[in-house]
Amino acid sequence: MISEEKAREKILSAVAPLPATEVSLGHALDRFAANDLFATIPLPPFDNSAMDGYAVVANSAGKNARLKIAGEQPAGVSKNLSLSAGKTIRIFTGAPMPIGADAVVMQEETQREGDFVLIQAEQISVGDFVRKAGADLAVGQQIVKRGDRLRPATLGLLASQGIESVRVGAQPRVAIVTTGDELAAPGQQLRSGEIFDSNGLMLASLAAKTGMEVAMRRHCPDNFATLCTTLRDAVHQDAVIISGGVSVGEHDLVREALREIGAEIDLWRVAVKPGKPFLFGKRDRCLIFGLPGNPVSTFVTFLVFVRPALLQMMGAIDLSLPRANARLVHEITGDETRPHYFRGQLADGAFTVIGRQESHAIFGLARANALLRVRPEARLSAGSEVEVLLID
Ligand code: AMP
Ligand code: MG
Repeated sequence: MISEEKAREKILSAVAPLPATEVSLGHALDRFAANDLFATIPLPPFDNSAMDGYAVVANSAGKNARLKIAGEQPAGVSKNLSLSAGKTIRIFTGAPMPIGADAVVMQEETQREGDFVLIQAEQISVGDFVRKAGADLAVGQQIVKRGDRLRPATLGLLASQGIESVRVGAQPRVAIVTTGDELAAPGQQLRSGEIFDSNGLMLASLAAKTGMEVAMRRHCPDNFATLCTTLRDAVHQDAVIISGGVSVGEHDLVREALREIGAEIDLWRVAVKPGKPFLFGKRDRCLIFGLPGNPVSTFVTFLVFVRPALLQMMGAIDLSLPRANARLVHEITGDETRPHYFRGQLADGAFTVIGRQESHAIFGLARANALLRVRPEARLSAGSEVEVLLID
């Protein structure tokens, strides 16, 4: 049995990012940048007004000044208007600043009198309500780092640079294979002794959330020949995620089937709770993950081992789950030998363990929004400060 850290290291060292591909910005959400990107346009691109109002020369537009309106500058066109002291130009939000103007008085602080405007603002300083060119972003500044996730705001920034498409890591295609004679698909009639398959859908959803394309989904009874045929098919994808059949019972046939189809098994059994029988292997370039079938084990080992590997395949650099600091509501004692992931709820900075903590107990998992990794033999008292992993 190997440690959780060693297992993760071993898996990540076996994962190479897929070749990058160019996608339109509209298809780039949650993909990972394959290159550093730099600004080619300053933001704002030109000095412009932050308000609807009047462009002025600040030192000649004090309170009660009466200024003649010498023109109008709307947004979207550059009229190259210029301004002299004692005059003003009607201006709108986003419109280029007239030459000579150095401040804007907002409309709410003026009174219009025909062709004149009466300034009512208490004080006007140079730069008031003017957005200076390049104040937000200068040409040459880095806007994206290789490996960054392209979030909605990142895409907005790229669009503001006039960028239409971007190079990102390719999206891995994964196969999901569930195993077990006892499993029935939701919608089928349950026979005595059977349970419904929850892992198939849960894994497909986890994979989709991680940005994968689920290219194949299959259920296999615990039958050696069927399992071999299915896995032979599945290893044509970039990764295969198998649920169940990796433990030590006579019906756990996954390891044997993987050997039969010429896959190499790099590790089997990891000191982690839940999830001990976890398996990782390869067949040529296809990564193979064998997840223990208990639903909580499946879920936790996906997040701890599979997710970082798939993210690395997509070109991500930050492979960790989002984290938050929390105060523990009650005492927790760790397992004697393995790190133990507790499921719980984080609310208002307080973490409460929720539901039964056995590996089959999916009800508690479905209500949990955070995991707490407790080190072996740790004894955490109520009120301790902990860091939890946020789950979706
Ligand atoms: P296994 O890892 O195949 O030994 O399965 C361990 C436990 O998880 C058994 O109680 C199985 O019935 C259950 N199990 C396996 N696969 C699934 C699944 N897809 N959905 C729900 N429970 C499962
Ligand atoms: Mg089984």
